[in-house]
Amino acid sequence: MTIEFFLPFEFDNIPQDWDPWNDTWRNDKKKYIWECFDKPPFDGLLISKARLDLHLNYFKNLTDNKDLKNLLNLASSIKLFGDCGAFQYRNEKKPPYSVEEVLDYYQDYGFDMGCSIDHIITNKKDIDLRTKRYNLTKRLAKECLKHYSSKSYTFELFGVAQGWDIESYKSSVIYLKNIGYENICIGGLVGVYKQISRTSNDLTLVNLIKQLAPILKKFKKVHIFGRGNLDLIKLYIESGITQFDYNLMRKSWTDEKRSYQIFNKTKKKSEFYTSIRIRLIKRKMGITPEEIGVFDKLQDFENKIISSEELISTLKEYNNFYRTFKLKELSKQIKTSNKTKLIEKYNYYKKNHLSLNIDLIHDLLEDKPWNICDCELCREAGIHICVFRRRIRNLRRAFHNVYNYFLALDHIKNNQ
Ligand SMILES: [Zn+2]
Repeated sequence: MTIEFFLPFEFDNIPQDWDPWNDTWRNDKKKYIWECFDKPPFDGLLISKARLDLHLNYFKNLTDNKDLKNLLNLASSIKLFGDCGAFQYRNEKKPPYSVEEVLDYYQDYGFDMGCSIDHIITNKKDIDLRTKRYNLTKRLAKECLKHYSSKSYTFELFGVAQGWDIESYKSSVIYLKNIGYENICIGGLVGVYKQISRTSNDLTLVNLIKQLAPILKKFKKVHIFGRGNLDLIKLYIESGITQFDYNLMRKSWTDEKRSYQIFNKTKKKSEFYTSIRIRLIKRKMGITPEEIGVFDKLQDFENKIISSEELISTLKEYNNFYRTFKLKELSKQIKTSNKTKLIEKYNYYKKNHLSLNIDLIHDLLEDKPWNICDCELCREAGIHICVFRRRIRNLRRAFHNVYNYFLALDHIKNNQ
């Protein structure tokens, strides 16, 4: 028994040529995450219809070819898993697609797997809303299966189970089994508590999986939407879950303590670090003299000319400079446009000094994890992989994080 990781794909790419020391790059050649490493750091990609629709014009300009793997330069062994993107239309009354439209879409774009149309229960306490969406998801699963069976589609169809408590999830899964599904997905679990918190009947991810396990094992494939913390993998495998997706890239810029993740091959465990925030003075490409000053200190640190304490004190000075710069800039803008948002921003900078988590940065600078990571992006960028700035730079760190997550996952799978 094994388990497969699907990376939610949102068409993110990074410039192929980038000079981290001058913060310049060329926009003509971009690369996707799988083009950054020898082997793709995932088993498959999860692509939402709502997301792909936004990018169709871009692809149409290139070719009429609808074979996604071919368009994206992906090996045929990488699996494509399609869903409708229920999160994107969660606030609408009903899903904006028809059954036929969705199934034809999976087939036409070359998906290996696709799931029935569902509607997320956004408020699990609203009895009217949850009943309506629950029944609608069940009805659509039945219609999808009926239509699927009447045509010669070649992708594998998954029925989606939604619910608001353990019982409703259980009866949704049993329903899918009874109407003939061999593969299912369990949705609506983003934001649900992970651990056993109170009693075993409370809806937490661990409680749910444990209680569903005997039924899940009767299916050929079971996919968990949106949850993939490494400490869940053992339970997933034991419970008959065969695949999952997990959007861990966002942590690279949203989670200060887990901005940079590395699988330490010697210690055989994942370690997490912060990143060094060097705020942008200008939106434009390139760096200002003040930023050059900080980058020079990064280089001195890399060359062992200065200590971590000295670098940290440079970062503090830079933050103070940035705050003064921002206050001046905002006060100029307020004089000409006087917008409430600008005033709020001004007051924020006036009241607050920019914080620097010295303990976290100190740990990062002491361990220098970028020196032990064997990924191409760390080799190329050195300390810059841990610098938090604009999106193209943060995405590199995100790609590196996925690479290391996949190594850690592989270690767990091999030691089952
Ligand atoms: Zn790396």
